[in-house]
Amino acid sequence: HSVSEPTPDLFPALRPDHDRPALAFGDRTLTYGQLARVAGALTGELRSARRVALWATPTLETAVGVVVALEAGVPVVPLNPKIGAGELRHVRTDSAPDLVLAAQDDRLPPALDELPRVTIRTDPDRVPSRAPVPVERPAADAPAFVVYTSGTTGPPKGAVLPRRAVSSTLDALEDAWQWTADDVLVHGLPLFHVHGLILGILGPLRRGGSVRHLGRFSTEGVTRELASGGTMLFGVPTMYHRIAESLAGDPGLAKALAGARLLVSGSAALPVHDHERIAAATGRRVIERYGMTETLMNTSVRADGPPGTGTVGVPLRGVELRLVEESGEPVTDPDGIGEIEVRGPNLFTEYLNRPDATAAAFTADGWFRTGDMAVVDADGAVRIVGRKATDLIKSGGYKIGAGEIENALLDHPDVREAAVTGEPDADLGERIVAWIVPADPADPPSHTRLADHVAAQLAPHKRPREVRLLDALPRNDMGKIMKRRLTDRAAAATG
Ligand code: ATP
Ligand code: MG
Repeated sequence: HSVSEPTPDLFPALRPDHDRPALAFGDRTLTYGQLARVAGALTGELRSARRVALWATPTLETAVGVVVALEAGVPVVPLNPKIGAGELRHVRTDSAPDLVLAAQDDRLPPALDELPRVTIRTDPDRVPSRAPVPVERPAADAPAFVVYTSGTTGPPKGAVLPRRAVSSTLDALEDAWQWTADDVLVHGLPLFHVHGLILGILGPLRRGGSVRHLGRFSTEGVTRELASGGTMLFGVPTMYHRIAESLAGDPGLAKALAGARLLVSGSAALPVHDHERIAAATGRRVIERYGMTETLMNTSVRADGPPGTGTVGVPLRGVELRLVEESGEPVTDPDGIGEIEVRGPNLFTEYLNRPDATAAAFTADGWFRTGDMAVVDADGAVRIVGRKATDLIKSGGYKIGAGEIENALLDHPDVREAAVTGEPDADLGERIVAWIVPADPADPPSHTRLADHVAAQLAPHKRPREVRLLDALPRNDMGKIMKRRLTDRAAAATG
């Protein structure tokens, strides 16, 4: 790195005399002034640490903990409290934190036993009122986070995110979403990934607005918080799916959503069927944004732009995006599918302890290979087809995206959940397999009925060759479908 520019202050609203609400978790709330005070009381305890872990339960303590670490200028590793023992040992060894930040009542697992523990106190009346320890503001390229990827396609990797990535992504979202200090975000996501923690907690704090966290997502919570002043909702597709399912019998929910300023979905594709049901019941369009642990946010449908249903919108301010062929050459065919590559201030610097993976992820001229496949519409909106590794099926000479077949299947009344994979096939190269959770397990739809439904909506060559029934799809804690588990299962079954 060359000469570093200093980072802008991440939280200009965090001032001792500022009494607007910042964080609310149930009836536990903190104003900016109170947050400045509780955070200031703890920054000194982190001073000599090189890196800290944060036991990231969906609580006020976690939100305070991340502010403390960022104010102290110490990179923070958010830990998923539901993580398995083996994975936790890996993350602990890989990230080598000097201490763990946790709430008083948290019972930490044995893998963290040897780490010194700093208790996050959130009661502004019970922390010493000493002035915050002055810390030199870290440079823009100093690490702010090590965030582990969701593990959808393989073991999670620790992405090192500089402070610049955090400030630039949140400011680009301010522009795309017209996000202001008057916004009140309704939040029901976990706090150990980019979506819940960086967008959902740091986003409002950077704007000087507020967050109301539901603790656990529920449609009742969404209704209550949107009906009492919430202006924005962030969710993953499984949450919007639950909302879509509930709307018919819940006029209060429909009314609350209709009154919101912005409904945002991300982390995975929102099926068209759910988009449509929500729009029909509320008159509102959910907008999608596309990001990754490694890149924070890349694109979004704009609050002031066209609805872009079925797309993830346009590149955010400062982000360069292109599609490339397998050869690495840019896609020139206007309808052509290619891998998304991005470049910009939003990018991570490296995978921790993985120079091999880091090198493989970047081109010689600094573009990051996302592994996601897309087409770009005539108006510049990006339409994600799926992941290169699991969602792009090469069958009978065609390149077919699993997503559009999944959308067609989900549109069938007998289908509750659907995932489409490709399997090796002697004639076709790969054949299309549909994994279905039937709406009525006692009366599942036949293969021919579903295959004809897909062929009628899309094209004959997109017809699934086989349908396999399941009770539920394997999903991770963000609700993402773990397709590897499906294909591994199929490989094991056929030997
Ligand atoms: P791992 O990298 O460990 O396999 P992961 O890729 O799921 O897991 P994340 O970084 O949390 O980990 O997720 C980023 C991925 O999520 C993107 O590469 C993309 O495939 C998907 N994604 C995010 N937002 C959207 C969206 N709006 N539409 C479709 N896919 C999305
Ligand atoms: Mg990934």
